[in-house]
Amino acid sequence: MHANDETHQIIATLIDDIEARRFQRAALGPMVERGRAEPRAILALLEAVLHRLPSGGTHVDILLAFLPEPLWTELVAVAVAIARQSPHNDAAIRVLRQAGLQLPETLHPYLEAIFRIESLAEVELAQAFRGAPLEAVTFLFDPLTEGAERERRRACRALLETRRIEVLTFAEQSSDAFAALLPEVGFEVAQGGFRQLYTPRALHVAFPTAYLDRLAPDVTERSLGISHPTWQPASPDRLRGNRSAAEAPDQGHRVGGAVSARCAICGQRLARLLRLDPVPTAVGVRGLLRLELVACFSCLGWERELLHYRHEDGQAASWLPETRDGRDGREGGALLGAGDHVARGDAPDDGPEMESAGGALEACPVELIDLGPRFAHQDWCTRENLHRVGGHPVWITGPAYPACPGCGVTSMHLAQIDSELLTGEGLAWTWGDGGICYVAWCDRCRVSTVYWQCA
Ligand SMILES: [Zn+2]
Ligand SMILES: [Zn+2]
Repeated sequence: MHANDETHQIIATLIDDIEARRFQRAALGPMVERGRAEPRAILALLEAVLHRLPSGGTHVDILLAFLPEPLWTELVAVAVAIARQSPHNDAAIRVLRQAGLQLPETLHPYLEAIFRIESLAEVELAQAFRGAPLEAVTFLFDPLTEGAERERRRACRALLETRRIEVLTFAEQSSDAFAALLPEVGFEVAQGGFRQLYTPRALHVAFPTAYLDRLAPDVTERSLGISHPTWQPASPDRLRGNRSAAEAPDQGHRVGGAVSARCAICGQRLARLLRLDPVPTAVGVRGLLRLELVACFSCLGWERELLHYRHEDGQAASWLPETRDGRDGREGGALLGAGDHVARGDAPDDGPEMESAGGALEACPVELIDLGPRFAHQDWCTRENLHRVGGHPVWITGPAYPACPGCGVTSMHLAQIDSELLTGEGLAWTWGDGGICYVAWCDRCRVSTVYWQCA
């Protein structure tokens, strides 16, 4: 089946418009809509872009988000061939980058060719290797030890991305870049091997449509008909079903609002980042039925780079003062339970809903949805939904897993909340300059650590 004549005409017009710089993102809406009934139309448009518009652009990324999985193999073959010939063809590089994020297995037949594409940034190159089988990466063993410095580093980064223990072990013994690069794939060296610092499954925070429509139009691009699949709205029935709507604000998953406990540093009410109620399985939190992730938005990132809170079932989160960074220099695990260091909140978290705290987010019932592996790894600075629980964190300035102040062990990534959500005053909240807020979790101590990064 081939795209029909009408589709060809639309594609030709779109390409002409992009070439003549008359193109507007809204023009992609009808194309995405057409793609639902005629998936090959999107493939045909992308192939035309690859051949005629080497300067690429963000429209390539949008179209790729809507390309059905079975058609990726064809597109990737074209993109690899073009990128080998013309390594600065931005359209082809974008296809390779998005394939590495969404469907890396489509790149695995071409890993040797991809490794030779010098214009691929280290991270773009590496993600093609995610989950690759051992036999597909053995060609990197020579460049890992015998290449020039840049090649050795790229080989190591690519090998780590396989996340295969036998490959990590080999790289540890063979590469001087190993220790610096290991956190990039969310692992640390642990006794007897390696420890993964994130849970594999990513759950996206899904907001009600009425809330999404109040966000700035360029956040979700819903009005243009090109809203990224990760912005799938919450199902009204599910929200009603878990009784988290207005009639039961103290139940269900929820973003924003404030809790009763106060910040031990500045005295303001703590803001809720995210309530997990019930705590989902397989996110690395055991033994708690619900979890209120909170922070003082006034102090976070300003008074303190990291804020730590201790959590117990049915009790308010309590602040833990900053102690030592990392395991080095630790003097036993005496901090937790040392009452004089722990400032208790003055009421349980499930008290009456508070209107606001210092800059708190507007309270909103949400759903957590599993969109599968395709969107479990994402990039920053896209128009995608980066509000997530679990999965590999989307870093802005590089990996940063904090040490738990209770036990000194590295905390696991638990959740991230992006910028641009609404404050209680209806304004767009930003972490620094459009950054992302992260929550790390020590399950042994039940301590959350909150911090943010921005560009
Ligand atoms: Zn504070
Ligand atoms: Zn701990």
